Amino acid sequence: MATSPFDLSGKVAVVTGGNGGIGLGMARGLAAAGAAVTIVGRNEAKSKAAADELTAAGGRAMAVTADVTSKDDVAGMVEATKRAFGSVDILVNNAGINIRKPPHVMALDEWHQVIETNLTSAVYAVQAVYPVMKAAGGGKIINIGSMMSIFGASFAPAYAASKGGIVQFTKSLACAWAPDNIQANVVLPGWIDTELTQDAREQVEGLHERVLARTPAARWGVPADLAGVAVFLASSASDFVTGTAIPIDGGYSVAG
Ligand code: NDP
Repeated sequence: MATSPFDLSGKVAVVTGGNGGIGLGMARGLAAAGAAVTIVGRNEAKSKAAADELTAAGGRAMAVTADVTSKDDVAGMVEATKRAFGSVDILVNNAGINIRKPPHVMALDEWHQVIETNLTSAVYAVQAVYPVMKAAGGGKIINIGSMMSIFGASFAPAYAASKGGIVQFTKSLACAWAPDNIQANVVLPGWIDTELTQDAREQVEGLHERVLARTPAARWGVPADLAGVAVFLASSASDFVTGTAIPIDGGYSVAG
């Protein structure tokens, strides 16, 4: 029987922020499709628990404790993955934070913290994996945007800037590295039920109801909703797909 275009057997993935929420939803999909997965986060116990879960389900996984705002940590996560699994074929830049304050209240150090975590971290990571992917003859970069890559957010200016920036950064990667057979794409999650948005629901009055009312699918997403797109963008099924941004949002971004 022909191999499935979604098969990831023998491939190696690094998922930043893979110890919970959307990152873990994607990591589960990648592992189920056959990839070995490095789970990266600051919380060692949480990352180990996620890696153990993937291993118990029959996958190959390990945890690396790293802060993605540290260039050295990011280089270390790539080195540790190469040592353990032999390569890095798939990079998912998913780690992210939000600080919810309107533009006139936000402090400059809060701006830097969000931009460094959500955007500069991706620069460190793609620069660390590029030589590995180039030498291997190709690779897949999956960056995580947001509905705020498309829309403004009065309560999250730094977050929106980081998520808009990641889309343009990804388009540039796609153009620069197509000759190396590296595809780079962005996933734009809609409103997904995770720790991040549980905070948002507490901090932004009426958010829960507004999301439900606007989403044609009439529900919040769950991390498992992101597994399929991760496998698609990590696999040969997407070899002619690069520089794009795919909403996974139950129709939120097309609703009037
Ligand atoms: P969670 O808060 O559940 O997860 C965030 C993850 O990022 C955790 O695994 C956390 O691990 C990790 N992380 C945060 N800061 C760092 C850091 N400095 N170094 C390493 N890891 C870090 O959030 P979500 O799953 O909701 O979000 C994941 C991504 O999806 C983010 O980029 C977010 O912006 C994006 N997104 C989420 C949406 C949603 O509705 N939930 C919608 C659109 C986009 P640890 O604490 O162990 O470091």
